[in-house]
Amino acid sequence: DELEAALDTIAAIATPLGRGGIGVVRVSGSAVPQIAQKLLGKTPPPRQALYSDFRAGNGELLDQGIALFFPAPHSFTGEHVLELQGHGGLVVMDQLLQATLECGARVARPGEFSERAFLNGKLDLAQAEAIADLIDSASVQAARCALRSLQGVFSQHINELVQLLIELRTYIEAGIDFVEEEIDLLSDGMVAQKINALLQQIELIFSQAQQGFLLKEGMHLVLVGAPNVGKSSLLNRLAGRETAIVTPIAGTTRDLVRDQILLDGMPLHIIDTAGLRETEDIVEKQGIERTRRVMSEADLVIVLLDDRHPEDVAETELLQQLKIKPLLVRNKIDLSGHAAGLTPEGVLYLSAKTGEGIAELKDYLRRQMGLSVQSEGHFMARRRHLTALSTAKEALNNSLNYVQLRHSELLAEELRLAQLALSEITGAFTADDLLGEIFSSFCIGK
Ligand code: GDP
Ligand code: ZN
Repeated sequence: DELEAALDTIAAIATPLGRGGIGVVRVSGSAVPQIAQKLLGKTPPPRQALYSDFRAGNGELLDQGIALFFPAPHSFTGEHVLELQGHGGLVVMDQLLQATLECGARVARPGEFSERAFLNGKLDLAQAEAIADLIDSASVQAARCALRSLQGVFSQHINELVQLLIELRTYIEAGIDFVEEEIDLLSDGMVAQKINALLQQIELIFSQAQQGFLLKEGMHLVLVGAPNVGKSSLLNRLAGRETAIVTPIAGTTRDLVRDQILLDGMPLHIIDTAGLRETEDIVEKQGIERTRRVMSEADLVIVLLDDRHPEDVAETELLQQLKIKPLLVRNKIDLSGHAAGLTPEGVLYLSAKTGEGIAELKDYLRRQMGLSVQSEGHFMARRRHLTALSTAKEALNNSLNYVQLRHSELLAEELRLAQLALSEITGAFTADDLLGEIFSSFCIGK
């Protein structure tokens, strides 16, 4: 029993590896009191700082520092937790970790503390993910969003939706047993009204979540335009370095050039497409197919034109297939003489060569990413959250059809599917392999 207790006790250096004033070794599990006894000579009083010697099993002094003991269940993981704050050097930290291992703890996997917090009901899954996202935040806005998710703002919205769905399902499933009343149940428009209200709420949450997702993952931007309009030059301007080949010969960029730049700490994934023309050339045809694909996946498409002959858009056909409105940018104003900046019609004039108008373009991109607006209403979201919201939306749309068809069983089934999708966000129903995937991407000691 004691061995089992020790084996389920995990330890890790929770601070970054390297030199630092303070380093923290964190231990969680039922063997914590024994480990404290061996290392400190006693179990520290709950939730009080104890200044103490830290000793190895053989009594050798390893360090001196602060020990903190959080008895279960009032700890981050919900288990007994011990934190040893020692001097933040590699050797000291490693020796402290080794000492806990000698007392029977094992090294924690990445994210295992958070995983235990989730499994013990201290956090839901979206909150646990927010911890990792907060740590990985590349901007103040992203950190703010992650913090809101960690506080449970996102989860609360989801839980409210789930609650409404449960009520609706109960109402409808109760009606299924009484076939005569079933007709009345769906005919007064009340059910459809409730489903529509749910759909509206999901729509709103989706857009707020999407903003957080953009802040975290960055925006995917595709540059299209005829050969020689200055796509590569613009990319270089934004990146501040020489990534793409710039040459005066049309059609130099033979394939897609991918680059990633940071705009206010936010990743921007840019693809410079091959200059396209109507062509019978097989290689170029493949290029068009690739361009079509990346354009359909982009968050923003920038259509670049030479301001001296702006009618020259080779991708007109591709652009008409786009679901999002592209940004029209007219380049080479140093040659055309047009003033730099964004017009009320939404056309941006600039020169990739002189840099005029580039600041306005960056402003535009910042706005697109939600960097310039207050991120109050937003929360951090991951791809899987957006997918789950979309799935729920689809199920609710299907359910509306079944209201019209007066088909209670299928209606109830769609509502169940919507609830299931939403529950995956908070982890009420989540497969083990998904959990493993989520927590393994965390850092050690968290
Ligand atoms: P791409 O084929 O669309 O990628 O075009 P490039 O970036 O390779 O540029 C084609 C040519 O136009 C090069 O000679 C660039 O130096 C030139 N060019 C690009 N942008 C500007 C600009 O704003 N002003 C001027 N004068 N020349 C430019
Ligand atoms: Zn180019």
